[in-house]
Amino acid sequence: MYNPGMPQPTLNEIILEQANKCVLCGLCLTACPTFNESRREAQSPRGRISFAKALAENTLPASKQLLTSLAGCLLCRACERACPSDVGFREMMLATRSIIKKSSHSRTELSAIVRVILYLARNPKTYSLLVTIYTKSGLRWCLQKTRVLRLLQLDDIDALLPTGQPSFEQQGYISKLPKPSLRLGLFTGCLSKSLDNQTSHSIKQIFNALNIELVTANRPLCCGGLSDSTINEFQAAFPADIKTVVSCVSGCTAELYEDLAHHKGNDINLLDVSTFLSQQNFQGLKFKPYEGVIAVHEPCSLRYPLAAEKFVYDLLKLIPAAKIKPMPENEQCCGGAGDYMFRQPVMAKKLRDNKVRAMVKKLPALPDIIVTSNLGCATNLQAGLQGLNEHIEVVHPVTLLARQLKTGGEKQ
Ligand code: SF4
Ligand code: SF4
Repeated sequence: MYNPGMPQPTLNEIILEQANKCVLCGLCLTACPTFNESRREAQSPRGRISFAKALAENTLPASKQLLTSLAGCLLCRACERACPSDVGFREMMLATRSIIKKSSHSRTELSAIVRVILYLARNPKTYSLLVTIYTKSGLRWCLQKTRVLRLLQLDDIDALLPTGQPSFEQQGYISKLPKPSLRLGLFTGCLSKSLDNQTSHSIKQIFNALNIELVTANRPLCCGGLSDSTINEFQAAFPADIKTVVSCVSGCTAELYEDLAHHKGNDINLLDVSTFLSQQNFQGLKFKPYEGVIAVHEPCSLRYPLAAEKFVYDLLKLIPAAKIKPMPENEQCCGGAGDYMFRQPVMAKKLRDNKVRAMVKKLPALPDIIVTSNLGCATNLQAGLQGLNEHIEVVHPVTLLARQLKTGGEKQ
């Protein structure tokens, strides 16, 4: 936690403060997806705490086993909820990864394509430019027609690229309304701005109907690895009258909200968009019935740090006739976990396949649509659904809500 004016603890002190709370009881083990999959202590929270502690105390070399164990953590934080000793796993793991990153051990065996994807993920401007060239030049059309994408197993990522719909995500965009009842900030995360125009357009549609004006950040903002200066940047990116910012990517919201909440002088309230919308008055708006089955995937970011999964169900109840089912084994991470699916593709695929298998086995019928509040989970799940005979669409809950909104039923 950042306390201006106070001496900041070192990374080793942060690790030891959390690791020393662990009483080795093992209650967290079966909450951990990587332990459940591998049944190995080294891939459990308790194993990772031991390795992190040894690294901080310099009692073990940074062996391959130690690095593999720590790199294998999804940072899903399911262990935090199970832990009776209040071990702050996120704090400990972030400090551990910072130490590893600064050391010569940070060199990993990532493939060239993964390095390129991770580079692009952290450079949304370059990414947007390449996506525009790819979609507008006809290259995308050719690759889709010749099935090259499918052969390269890139069709699931391709499916998420923008379809040519103009983005309203320019920096400092305002969805101008004549007499708005409220003005809010909209934070889209860096990658979703390019990958997922559909969600931001749906959000705009719903907020317009509620007569709420949206303002996007006046500069590029990323939630990753927040330092104090980037929290200041986040605050400065919105006009002074904006006190509430909604986010359409639960992973980004989770990454930011604790730091914002604990930052001295912060007066911005950051919320997942479904949380905000579930508390609004929808009287006067009408929604078309949805006859299909909606499976709700609960991203770990929404379940554990934000504890906000319930609001998605509340929101979907606005849709008449909707048959809403939780995805089986929602308590276990799907393997998406930010860039985890690129860094640890083997484990990510196992966890994703487990999730799809559980859905096929435990739901009485396959859903027509899966909703998830996190773009990374959507990408990963879509890839996992490729093997099924039936097409199941994966969308943000607000996208489904916007599709069902009756046009002409908006509030005046
Ligand atoms: S954060 Fe998730 S993957 Fe990492 S140790 Fe905890 S439960 Fe396991
Ligand atoms: S539940 Fe908490 S105290 Fe028990 S082993 Fe896991 S991290 Fe340690």
